[in-house]
Amino acid sequence: MKMKASGHQCPFCHPGIRKYIYYEADGYLAVVNIAPVLPGHSLIIPEHHKTSITSLDAKELQLFMQVAQKATYILMKAFGTDAFDWSVQEKPEAGQSIEHLHMHIVPRMKNDLEKPGDWYPLVHQNDHEIIDSMNRPELGPDDLKSIVDKLKEVAGNIES
Ligand SMILES: [Zn+2]
Repeated sequence: MKMKASGHQCPFCHPGIRKYIYYEADGYLAVVNIAPVLPGHSLIIPEHHKTSITSLDAKELQLFMQVAQKATYILMKAFGTDAFDWSVQEKPEAGQSIEHLHMHIVPRMKNDLEKPGDWYPLVHQNDHEIIDSMNRPELGPDDLKSIVDKLKEVAGNIES
């Protein structure tokens, strides 16, 4: 599939995002980050374009958090850890450059980074990397597919 380098298309509304989904429920998606800062780095996004967590009503907020919790559980099982970071940036002054609500989930391992807090500057830049990645031929599609398949399998085992 060819992706056009148009700067205006929302990468999270792009149909190409669907192949990175490993769990979805009630209009919220857990997707593998195409430019991960660490293995398993995922994003929780509403399926339809919404810009802010503050625009969700009580029910939507509950569904968003439930999908985030479920995805975290899947990641913890898949990576054999119980450590993770969550982060949401909103508005450019907070580091957001994709204006589609997204929560980062980053599984953590002992000594995965020099200092535990080093993940944050990496996540802060991540939107730009996603936009760049969507605008060029896919990077490591086999690696991405294998992680998506692994997480789907874990998700299936948890559900059954
Ligand atoms: Zn969007």
